[in-house]
Amino acid sequence: MAYIINDECISCGACAGDCPVDAISEGDGKYVINADTCIDCGACAGTCPVSAPNPA
Ligand code: SF4
Ligand code: SF4
Repeated sequence: MAYIINDECISCGACAGDCPVDAISEGDGKYVINADTCIDCGACAGTCPVSAPNPA
């Protein structure tokens, strides 16, 4: 399982710094989560101002 960032993402970058396994990076128009690295901790969802990361 992994979290997925939806299209509400405003590319603020806040979540990337909070991810304990560096699974989040800037993508094309929004940030993206590497599903192979994500440990499903939910930290990104708690940080995001627009609730873009959600459990897959
Ligand atoms: Fe990183 Fe946790 Fe978000 Fe997965 S759920 S991308 S491990 S902060
Ligand atoms: Fe996008 Fe939310 Fe991450 Fe900011 S914190 S880059 S809005 S997913």
